[in-house]
Amino acid sequence: MPGFEIFGDEEKREVLEVLESGVLFRYGFEGQRGRQWKVRRFEEAFARYTGASHAQAVTSGTAALKVALAALGVGAGDEVITQGFTFVATWEAILDIGAVPVFTEIDLSLNMDPADLEKKITPRTKAIIPVHMMGAPARIEEIMAIADKHGIAVIEDTAQAAGARLHGRHLGTFGAIGTFSFDSVKTITTGEGGMCISNDASLWQRMDQYHDHGHDHLPNPGGRGGEGRLFIGFNYRMMEIQGAIGLAQLAKLDAMVEAQQHNKNILREAAAAIPGVQFRDLLDPAGDSATFLTFLLPDKAKTDTVADVLRAAGAVATRWSENTWHYYPNWEHLLEGKTPCNDGWPFTLHGKRRYVYDPQALPKTVAILERALTYQVPVRLAPEQETSICTALAQAARAL
Ligand SMILES: *Cc1c(COP(=O)(O)O)cnc(C)c1O
Repeated sequence: MPGFEIFGDEEKREVLEVLESGVLFRYGFEGQRGRQWKVRRFEEAFARYTGASHAQAVTSGTAALKVALAALGVGAGDEVITQGFTFVATWEAILDIGAVPVFTEIDLSLNMDPADLEKKITPRTKAIIPVHMMGAPARIEEIMAIADKHGIAVIEDTAQAAGARLHGRHLGTFGAIGTFSFDSVKTITTGEGGMCISNDASLWQRMDQYHDHGHDHLPNPGGRGGEGRLFIGFNYRMMEIQGAIGLAQLAKLDAMVEAQQHNKNILREAAAAIPGVQFRDLLDPAGDSATFLTFLLPDKAKTDTVADVLRAAGAVATRWSENTWHYYPNWEHLLEGKTPCNDGWPFTLHGKRRYVYDPQALPKTVAILERALTYQVPVRLAPEQETSICTALAQAARAL
């Protein structure tokens, strides 16, 4: 997820324009800023790029999820379904809005298993958040069909999949809202930052208002000050420097995806030599943003063997089952309901536990991720890095 790899003169030029104007705030300062509206232009460019009609910039991918949930009216007593393989932010946002996260298994797409989703829907389900992990789609068309049948809104957590498409359509545009992250390790980065996209003008308006203390921005569109408020909000405003960097990064996104696809193919061919190897299900290889290569071995013992060979050869592969940020069984603070709040909120209400998270609740997810090994695919694959990984994979192929 390497936006940081391609920082260059374009980002510097954009940022300098902001510093020269002296206006860091996305609203107001009309006299001083001239015609410079970096965040607004980033929103417009991002909407155009993804094909969504509206985009709302925010401070992070976590904030984007929170703003999306707020706009959909999710709150206390509601359940929101997501998957057991995601970054913690997805369920933190659900808890933070007062709702209860419910987790599905993943399948070989390494994303939400639609069959398990059906089983987890209850009358309290208010939203579904499939996550497009590692640059490639969840079974979003099947998920949308299930959600539509039950009349439940879908937020696509597209934090890891900027630039990825399914049959030509950008991820994040299938559900009611798509959310993105531009944190320091994402495909495009603004240091910290996020975006919500939607084709629904009234949802966008609610996001616009909620992210800025509820200001309705109505008497002075794009401006701020002295407006009314339809409801409460919070501060999730992006600043001009981030908008400036985002404009420069977005202009490079398609070229990054192309380079990653090229580099991923090289690594994939080397991995394909391992006996019994299987690759993650890609619903649309042409639309893959190709930020990661994930391959699976037939069982855990063989995966251990391959992982050891790769490590010894100096080309360590990520094992998500050992990761504490993305893997349900390792989220001890969630499983044990740890909170700074003395009365146990949000895990308890009036002293009563709201939902019990069993560490063994997702055996299929465990069985899949215990067999999976992942390499991050760089935009710029240095020759020595290519040789190192490909040689290690060839050794692994001989070891099995
Ligand atoms: C990074 C990430 C987020 C959160 O984004 P931040 O900008 O770091 O807050 C949310 N969901 C997923 C799947 C992510 O990878």
